[in-house]
Amino acid sequence: MRLLHEETTTSAGEAFDDGVEVAIVPTGSVEQHGPALPLGTDFLAAEAVARGIDRDDAVVLPTVPVGVSAHHRQFDGTLWAEPETFEDYVGEIAASVASHGVRKLVFCNGHGGNSDALRRAARRLRGDRIAYAAPWNWWSSLGGLDEELFGASGIGHADAMETSMVAHLAGDLVREALLEEAEAGAADSWGKSVHGAAVGFDTADFSESGAVGTPTGGTAEKGRKLFEQATGELDALVGWLAEQPFDALTPEPHR
Ligand SMILES: [Zn+2]
Repeated sequence: MRLLHEETTTSAGEAFDDGVEVAIVPTGSVEQHGPALPLGTDFLAAEAVARGIDRDDAVVLPTVPVGVSAHHRQFDGTLWAEPETFEDYVGEIAASVASHGVRKLVFCNGHGGNSDALRRAARRLRGDRIAYAAPWNWWSSLGGLDEELFGASGIGHADAMETSMVAHLAGDLVREALLEEAEAGAADSWGKSVHGAAVGFDTADFSESGAVGTPTGGTAEKGRKLFEQATGELDALVGWLAEQPFDALTPEPHR
């Protein structure tokens, strides 16, 4: 894939004039993923998926690695930005590339905690007719593959799905010997509820190890399947966006 940071201003200008329709912004997090997975799990996955497609009509922008992760702050190594800061920063990156004529984007996201802020950034860009950005999580279009591979779907963290993805992308970064420990201290599901009230605000409120789910269920082979499904879906999404006239993506007039 064409990576913006490897172009020169001259070659980027030529690419923008000659067929680049869509910019992809990988977004992730640097946050605890339990004892067995690296802090960079989310941005590594988003970046790999973004760079894993092969199209002439798109360019991949530099990864935004730090995201909305304050709910993991009790665990060493977690970094975070306030949601408003993240929203503004990603929105301004999108506006920059739009000023060069690439007004259609995908926020290729690897961290669920970023989703609300990305949605708000996309809504503002569209409302102001600056750009059209489609927020997209790499795991949101798996077509049932997660249930097929893991027997369940749902929101996990440092779980079998993330373990599989890291095992496929950067196997040396999975601390295999610590997967059992991660699982022993994991929560079964995200959050904590008392009589219907969601009282789990931070991961530390409901998970001892920081994981949610079953980390030992991950394999590199499952990660390869996830990666192929995700890149196939991103490729199709970019193809769809590339075909849309920008005006067709702007808000409808009042009726
Ligand atoms: Zn993650």
